Amino acid sequence: MATADDIFDEFLDERGHETESQSWEQDYNKKRCPDCEGLHGPEASSCTVCGWRP
Ligand SMILES: [Zn+2]
Repeated sequence: MATADDIFDEFLDERGHETESQSWEQDYNKKRCPDCEGLHGPEASSCTVCGWRP
């Protein structure tokens, strides 16, 4: 019988898979956000346009 904690763990696992499947797209020496296609420098850790992060 699944407890609330088990369900929460599964929820986190699924979210982990989702974020894992998405990453920056490379465009020459730039990073491109897969969400809004905004271009960022190679040091960017999150999208400043839409707030997306890998
Ligand atoms: Zn973006």
